[in-house]
Amino acid sequence: MSVQHDPVQRADFDQVMVPNYAPAAFIPVRGAGSRVWDQSGRELIDFAGGIAVNVLGHAHPALVKALTEQANTLWHVSNVFTNEPALRLAKKLVDATFAERVFFCNSGAEANEAAFKLARRVAHDKFGPEKCEIIAAVNSFHGRTLFTVSVGGQPKYSDGFGPKIQGISHVPFNDLEALKAAISDKTCAVVLEPIQGEGGVLPIDLAYLQGARELCNQHDALLVLDEVQTGMGRSGSLFAYQHYGVTPDILTSAKSLGGGFPIGAMLTTSELAKHLVVGTHGTTYGGNPLACAVGEAVIDVINTPEVLAGVQAKHQRFKSKLEQIGQQYDLFGEVRGLGLLIGCVLADAWKGKAKMLLDAAAAEGLMVLQAGPDVVRFAPSLVVEDADIDEGLARFERAVIKLTQA
Ligand SMILES: *Cc1c(COP(=O)(O)O)cnc(C)c1O
Repeated sequence: MSVQHDPVQRADFDQVMVPNYAPAAFIPVRGAGSRVWDQSGRELIDFAGGIAVNVLGHAHPALVKALTEQANTLWHVSNVFTNEPALRLAKKLVDATFAERVFFCNSGAEANEAAFKLARRVAHDKFGPEKCEIIAAVNSFHGRTLFTVSVGGQPKYSDGFGPKIQGISHVPFNDLEALKAAISDKTCAVVLEPIQGEGGVLPIDLAYLQGARELCNQHDALLVLDEVQTGMGRSGSLFAYQHYGVTPDILTSAKSLGGGFPIGAMLTTSELAKHLVVGTHGTTYGGNPLACAVGEAVIDVINTPEVLAGVQAKHQRFKSKLEQIGQQYDLFGEVRGLGLLIGCVLADAWKGKAKMLLDAAAAEGLMVLQAGPDVVRFAPSLVVEDADIDEGLARFERAVIKLTQA
């Protein structure tokens, strides 16, 4: 039995939606693996992955199974009661990381909001109200709530909404001297992305991350790593901090954690977690059984040597072809990133034209992302087939050729 829906078109977006997004002209209606079909039946290859979310592509059988089984079992009980999927996923995250405690929520912004509140709470409890300052990086991105845009280092997202959260400063990324100059005993947390995602797919320098860890230790400040974009296998390690070998005090995850089902998590130690006593923080949907059942299936599939090694191999496959395209058409200055979070920095002649490349790629049947105006970003499924990589990059090259001939 199928329900009859009224037909809708892209034009309806402008009639009924708040205009804060400008979606593409086509509407995807179905996906399988790394392929997506739009309303007209046109097939596209998906290297955007729902912005680093569809970590196992579309309609992965293990995720569909987990979701449908849970849908037939128990959807929601709230945090007045706990539930089995939440406890199972939390155990798996604890087993796989430095963390001993998990807080579940529904998005990256919410995970960061919890992280920042925890950092302030710990400092408040242990050192008093003066120690409340947060240091973040210029060009960083941590979400769209008022606290998270205030911490994020991009004024275009934080300006124009009245007074911001106080006590936040921004230092240039990968500049240890600047961080050393900014940090003080009033600092409660330093917040960093292992790879600045929205800021241009810019990886952190190992020496900088190590230095930040030491400075935090010296000043009783917490190191918060925002792994909302880099986590859950995307870097080729389960979390990017494991690739770098620098352990944070608090880690946030979302995006790939649910493989397309909304979920976020804040991971920390029991020593820090104990400051969030009953009633200090919460969210109705946090730990929702549907979300956690899917998250559990995601980690089961991803946290295996085969999938993680596959990410490294697929990185090489992307990188060598992208470098060849970059050189052949004088398109890219640099191809950077880890695992399957890859940024192609446009050469001077192409500066500002990332959106044009996205649109040209979509016209050839390929979904890619930008990361600012000067970087084309690839965040495909971690299990994207080699044949799909080759075909997708062939479509990308055709898009580039069309633009060079235009
Ligand atoms: C996407 C992102 C966020 C925000 O996540 P939402 O789920 O959109 O709230 C936070 N931090 C980083 C690094 C991100 O990439």
